[in-house]
Amino acid sequence: MVIVGGGTAGSVVASRLSADPELRVALIEGGPSDVGDQAILQLRNWLNLLEGDYDYDYPITPQPRGNSHLRHARARVLGGCSSHNTMISFLPPPDDFADWVKAGATGWSYEEMVPLWKRLAISITPVAERDRNPLAEDFVTACHTALGVPVHQDFNAAPFADGTGFFPVGYHPETGIRSSASVAYLHPHLDRPNLTILTEHWASHLDPDRGSRSAPAPGSRS
Ligand SMILES: Cc1cc2nc3c(=O)[nH]c(=O)nc-3n(C[C@H](O)[C@H](O)[C@H](O)COP(=O)(O)OP(=O)(O)OC[C@H]3O[C@@H](n4cnc5c(N)ncnc54)[C@H](O)[C@@H]3O)c2cc1C
Repeated sequence: MVIVGGGTAGSVVASRLSADPELRVALIEGGPSDVGDQAILQLRNWLNLLEGDYDYDYPITPQPRGNSHLRHARARVLGGCSSHNTMISFLPPPDDFADWVKAGATGWSYEEMVPLWKRLAISITPVAERDRNPLAEDFVTACHTALGVPVHQDFNAAPFADGTGFFPVGYHPETGIRSSASVAYLHPHLDRPNLTILTEHWASHLDPDRGSRSAPAPGSRS
């Protein structure tokens, strides 16, 4: 099986499929590996990754009334945008799931999705005390004391209507390492003999009957 794009989704799919030793899985990623690269792995460094080597940094079509210079960040690295984003990780509220079911997303009810949420390999936790910005602490306190907004220690603990508090984030507080799709789903399985990960390779053509062709990605460093 060939998976094109070793991003957030591709990392999970490659991990799940290669758990079956009967399957041979190839994951093709246009960007470099994140393994051992602290610039990517340290969640705190996320902002420095934008508009750099790991970012496709798409420009937008010039707009007649301004804002023509907006940039759209999209990661080019194993783990995809989960390797350069902020890993804010909320379980959607039950009403949102209900809306999606009403719109035709059969199987996406809150009750059906929560067990899948619990299966996530990502380490999701509220921002740890030592990583909290004192200004943000004061903001949370002020929301509560001045406006009576309820404080939530963990927004994912139970459905909530409104509130203030620190984000739940996918990371390992003891090391500061992001719990990206690559870290959580690929790093533990890099030694699987049936999983081949081709980084710096670009899929340029898809032939559903014969698999995909790949070549070193444009501008790749290896
Ligand atoms: C700056 C930023 C901050 C964000 N913050 C959050 C957040 O805090 N919380 C949250 O939940 N979401 C956040 N998001 C959104 C979230 O990261 C994305 O929705 C999600 O990662 C998209 O996953 P994906 O698998 O669809 O694509 P991606 O993760 O973008 O993966 C696509 C991968 O495919 C590769 N690729 C593409 N084409 C080819 C090809 N032809 N050949 C080989 N490889 C190819 C790319 O290099 C890339 O690695 C953020 C996004 C950005 C950009």
